[in-house]
Amino acid sequence: MPRRPGRPQSVEAVMRALARAIDGLELPAVEKISESQEDNPFQVLIATLLSARTQDATTLAASTRLFEVARTPRAVGELTVRQIQRLIYPVSFYRHKARHIKATCKILGERFGGRVPTSMEELLTLPGVGRKTANLVLILAFKSLRNICVDTHVHRISNRLGWVRTRTPDETEEALYQATDARWWPLINLYLVTWGQNVCRPVYPRCADCAISAMCPKIGVTKISKSPALAAAAR
Ligand code: SF4
Repeated sequence: MPRRPGRPQSVEAVMRALARAIDGLELPAVEKISESQEDNPFQVLIATLLSARTQDATTLAASTRLFEVARTPRAVGELTVRQIQRLIYPVSFYRHKARHIKATCKILGERFGGRVPTSMEELLTLPGVGRKTANLVLILAFKSLRNICVDTHVHRISNRLGWVRTRTPDETEEALYQATDARWWPLINLYLVTWGQNVCRPVYPRCADCAISAMCPKIGVTKISKSPALAAAAR
């Protein structure tokens, strides 16, 4: 297929290389929950809300504790905010998130027949749900092929790769629709988040060990982590 004018040449090669390179690496928490819960939209929604600014292991443990007690909007909605707080602690902003979860369950029951809505516009009406959460729910729970979920990892790595030049995740999402072929859209989050958690970390990315280093201009990267081999040679 001819490349659209203005699209970075490296997208195809990088995505193919990452598909191989992430094999065997730890999956992001929400992906794991989605797989284990057979893409239950409510549980994907709640796990994604819990994951904001929270370590993956903490998200996974908190989601598991909550879903062991209550698994549906109705059951979670019957818990008190205090009970939800206790179950999800110590995720970041657990007090806010508990209130949002309780309010979300009420809205799902009153406006959406106890189901998670399937459109971006409706998802954005839920408390605490922004474009990142809505896109991830659409991709993981409803198998959308038309959405890109941009979190901090996707934003950072897309800019380091030179695919986009943007200041915010929302700008990055818009720019990525132009910069990448649609067949990669549902996979961009999985590949770049996995890479961001393991290799292309926010500080001291492991460029020396990176499978896509030869294709990466490393835009904005000033300090890189030494690979174990390089570190040993330097001693
Ligand atoms: S080469 Fe470095 S900056 Fe580029 S993707 Fe790999 S780790 Fe990130």
